[in-house]
Amino acid sequence: MISGGRIVTAGGQKDADVLLEHRTISLIGDLAGIPADETVDASGCYVIPGAVDVHTHLDMDVGVTVSADDFTTGTRAAACGGTTTVVDFATAYRGESIAEGLANWHAKADGKALIDYAFHMSVTELTRPTDDIVAEMGESGITSFKLYMTYPDRLMVSDDVIRQMMIAAEKQNALICLHCEDDTSVTRLRNEALASGHREPRWHAWSRPPDAEASAVERAVRMVEDTGAAVYIVHLSSAPALEHVRLARERGLPVFAETCPQYLYLSADRYEAAPEVAARYVCAPPLRDVQHHEELWAGLEGGYLQVVSTDHCPFEQASKNAGLAGGGWNDFTQIPGGLPGVEARLALVYQRVVDGEMTLERWVDLCCTTPARIFGLYPAKGCLEEGADADLVIFDPNEERPLVPERLHSNLDYSVYEHIVVRGWPRLVYSRGEVVAKDGAPVGDPGRGNFVERGPSGRPTGTGDTT
Ligand SMILES: [Zn+2]
Repeated sequence: MISGGRIVTAGGQKDADVLLEHRTISLIGDLAGIPADETVDASGCYVIPGAVDVHTHLDMDVGVTVSADDFTTGTRAAACGGTTTVVDFATAYRGESIAEGLANWHAKADGKALIDYAFHMSVTELTRPTDDIVAEMGESGITSFKLYMTYPDRLMVSDDVIRQMMIAAEKQNALICLHCEDDTSVTRLRNEALASGHREPRWHAWSRPPDAEASAVERAVRMVEDTGAAVYIVHLSSAPALEHVRLARERGLPVFAETCPQYLYLSADRYEAAPEVAARYVCAPPLRDVQHHEELWAGLEGGYLQVVSTDHCPFEQASKNAGLAGGGWNDFTQIPGGLPGVEARLALVYQRVVDGEMTLERWVDLCCTTPARIFGLYPAKGCLEEGADADLVIFDPNEERPLVPERLHSNLDYSVYEHIVVRGWPRLVYSRGEVVAKDGAPVGDPGRGNFVERGPSGRPTGTGDTT
């Protein structure tokens, strides 16, 4: 039993006790007098649903190197920060069948995760009819697909493929996630930079401007209009791209979008550091100028953006230095792209509550509930109601934590947020009734986490928490 805390859900807040039994939440209310094996005092704390991060890249190969966190270290870090479910991007690379791609990801995760996990499937070419791909994955509990509008050498698909996949997904209650950057402009700018001898990380950002993202989002919106299918835009990073999402949603189009902490807290001036340090911040889309931050926060608070995920894909300094082909990078195109975030996300978004700019309910909604709803995990996950999985966080609003590498649990020798001391951190984190993190340190055996088969994705489901 968790007693004396303030329960916060996407729909409201109240003071109540929570009884956990048989891996689920069995009772919520004034439970004084109800027998419990153990009672945890949560006074002064918020009790919230375990957070759901729907965008991670654990144990992901890029050329000769692999992202720093595997399913053990990545899910440990997640748990320490209050995340109890991750949805990772399984990928079927070209020349590989979808089933092979999925099997590879199960092999990476099986027996290694501390918390529950699910998969999206990234599709890089059509090896079978789209209806068959969506049906086959649906049977495996995978109801969302990622398609790339950039990275022509490895991942990009044509708009025709995107359209076909959108139509197939819509028919079968699945959802297409899109990486939106217009590759024609990115390739042109990148070639221009290289031809002029510009090789430092700052040219990575220069070659992937907000306009390239905005025009790709605009194209995606047009495909939604044409097909009637929904789309979910991953890691939206800039104000002009957000503007297209806002306009589409105001017209009632099923366009969903997430942003990530790096686009809310870090800006393009990081690329002015010494090249080795600047390389840590290479990711796509790149960090933007600081004026985009407030626009993105306003998008989150105004409901135009529905989710904060992380795109957690860190690389150790040595991997960043080595470059995609090993032996050191010669120019910005050879730097492995990606940043950490899975542990800090919940607290970083909470800082907006500390600042008085966001409600507690919206914080929970963005980090826990709507991601679960959009991706078919609700109401087992992202939900603090009787009958839901006992995934929850006792969040201490007074705990202060510097986001320095020694206090974080990624397999990483630096932190991109070390300049930040957050206020508020999870005191206890439960996954299906078991403590998986205490005072920001992992508890329990990696391997206890289960693969979760998801229900329909695409439109937020469930009637909402009613507390
Ligand atoms: Zn990603």
